[in-house]
Amino acid sequence: MISNTMQQQVKNSSIIRAMFEEGKRLAALYGAENVYDFSLGNPNVEPPEEVKKAIIDIINEENSTALHGYMNNSGFEDVRGAIADSLNQRFATEFSADNILMTVGAAGGLNVIFKTLLNPEDEVLTFAPFFGEYRNYVQNYQGQLIVVSPDTRDFQPNLEEFKEKISPRTKAVLVNSPNNPTGVVYSEETIVSLANILRAKQKEYGTVIYLVADEPYRELAYDQVEVPYLTKYYENTIVGYSFSKSLSLPGERIGYLVIPQEAADYENLIAAANIANRILGFVNAPSLFQKVIAKCLSAQVDLETYNRNRELLYNALVSYGYQCIKPEGAFYLFVKTPIENDVEFCNLAKSKNILIVPGTSFACPGYARIAYCVAYETIEKALPGFKALILENQR
Ligand code: PLP
Repeated sequence: MISNTMQQQVKNSSIIRAMFEEGKRLAALYGAENVYDFSLGNPNVEPPEEVKKAIIDIINEENSTALHGYMNNSGFEDVRGAIADSLNQRFATEFSADNILMTVGAAGGLNVIFKTLLNPEDEVLTFAPFFGEYRNYVQNYQGQLIVVSPDTRDFQPNLEEFKEKISPRTKAVLVNSPNNPTGVVYSEETIVSLANILRAKQKEYGTVIYLVADEPYRELAYDQVEVPYLTKYYENTIVGYSFSKSLSLPGERIGYLVIPQEAADYENLIAAANIANRILGFVNAPSLFQKVIAKCLSAQVDLETYNRNRELLYNALVSYGYQCIKPEGAFYLFVKTPIENDVEFCNLAKSKNILIVPGTSFACPGYARIAYCVAYETIEKALPGFKALILENQR
């Protein structure tokens, strides 16, 4: 009795569901400590102390009816103001509370913006490899996700193909940096070129093309790498941010959209996004956690924990002969599978109690994603398995 669209979406979710079931099965057989689950992007680093303190202080100090009540669909005015001030300080932007809309994580924000923008058959371009849920988020509004194939040399966006795939129906371009699943940070050079292409295409077709920057990993960047703030490079940029990874709060569902004044049709965009937030059933972002994050805008998780994992995993895999780009951000490593069939390789990994996700799930076959947001010891214990896997299987 379920809808045709949902039948398809349920079918497409089966790889991750199967992985989850497999993890439980292996844990029952061998003990959870002997199963090396690198399949999920669930932070293993604790939220900063400031979060706990903020929760307690807010509960003790604020009027509870106001704290837990409904508010404007865009969120608490003071919280939005604090976010705008923090962004202005960090990126020399000029936002105010009017440019910020509090959302139910990045996922909520992306759904709000696609609901706001898309007519049926409108196209959203994205670059492979990409977070698989993008397909669902675009399909939710009958949009078409157009995928630009990966440039596996460095996993920067393939701009030649991008140019060819932009059409008069292109409503938005969705980018994610630091990237899930590659950990690559899009360089300033890439962003400047991408912005120039978009401007030229807008002119050629007489259309508006929005650049949607999905940035849940902005704060997880290593070796002092710069993560360009995209509103400064392209006027029709909308930023989707989330505290799921930056403060290790994925279950609390809190994030925001930035819709700058310079974005085409700003007034209608912000009004519509407010209403979209309501009518999609979010109504508003969780009220307590809006207040909490406002007090934690300078707080950080312990990045060094992820960095140690990154160094251990990357150096070991490369020494065994694996090919991969050293990730500069997020907590994922995207490795070329020693055999061409990535799904089969991930099944072979399972036989060593290692759970990793095939690149096919990110529109990039021949690779696999290893989420290293796990205990250091889990990586140490899994390394012999990774070594055996490449020795036993070669292209
Ligand atoms: N975008 C990307 C690239 C992600 O990796 C994720 C979650 O893993 C999300 C969006 C959704 O994040 P949130 O928990 O903020 O909804």
